[in-house]
Amino acid sequence: MRLLVTGGAGYVGSVVAAQLIEAGHEVTVLDDLSTGHEDAVPEGARFVRADITEAGQALDGVEAVLHFAAKSLVGESVQQPGLYWANNLGGTLGLLDAMRDHGVGRIVFSSTAATYGEPERSPIEEGDPTRPTNPYGASKLAVDTALSAYARQRGLGAVSLRYFNVAGAYGRFRERHAVETHLIPNVLKVATGERESVSVFGTDYPTADGTCVRDYIHVCDLAKAHLLALDAVTPGEHRVYNLGSGAGFSVQEVISVCREVTGHEIPAVVGDRRPGDPAVLVASSARIQRELGWKPERAALRDIVSDAWGALSGK
Ligand code: UDP
Repeated sequence: MRLLVTGGAGYVGSVVAAQLIEAGHEVTVLDDLSTGHEDAVPEGARFVRADITEAGQALDGVEAVLHFAAKSLVGESVQQPGLYWANNLGGTLGLLDAMRDHGVGRIVFSSTAATYGEPERSPIEEGDPTRPTNPYGASKLAVDTALSAYARQRGLGAVSLRYFNVAGAYGRFRERHAVETHLIPNVLKVATGERESVSVFGTDYPTADGTCVRDYIHVCDLAKAHLLALDAVTPGEHRVYNLGSGAGFSVQEVISVCREVTGHEIPAVVGDRRPGDPAVLVASSARIQRELGWKPERAALRDIVSDAWGALSGK
């Protein structure tokens, strides 16, 4: 298929674009490089450097869009909510109008576990309440709501994939944020010597060791789900799928695995809780397994960390 991948110079977008090309699709990447990197655009993709509001120029002949371009820092979204509403909701609504104008009726959207907010139960299922606790999650939920409405009203075919904690790497494609907030890259940066220690944000949560529990999914498993979702997009339907490995690991457990994988002692310093962090976020991915036949293949935390470490350290 001829596909447009917005945000294809970013972490998840570049891995998905690379896998789409390997599967024989014709890929155009649209990215404004505000947080992405041009050298992350995979070989074989056409690259258009442009803002999401200018996506129309890249839509001629396109059959489906995979939409990753977004602002994705929870803390920044609290500081600058307008940036998140404008980019994530406004940008996507503009993209959907441009798609309609170009006769493009299929989209796979990068949604998030942050749409659920503080969960009532674990693991989280797609029908559970969505009460985001920050503008990032709220802006992504608003897009999910719009996709449902456009599916009903315009016959759009859409799949939203709600990612839990994405980590790992695919060959040279890895997480490289100018401001790194995520746990695994921050822990590994201690092992490379870029940081002296890692901060543990709170040890008084109601979990076994007092630190937050998250569901880590390998970026390759996540990417595979996008290819399955693309095949499953059906005009007039909006489907929502959670994507995690289904197992929870605490911050302390993640740090331990990173120590084992890197052989580095990785000093950890206990700090305050980070505002807005739920104690436990674990996905039920039963729906996508059942309906699309998706199965995580590199679910073990050790594999996820090893691949992230391999890409970061060149080992
Ligand atoms: N975390 C931490 N130290 C860090 C970064 C993150 O203790 O340097 C914790 C964070 O509070 C959360 C978990 O690690 O409980 C995962 O955070 P991350 O930012 O990777 O993902 P999130 O779950 O917020 O999307």
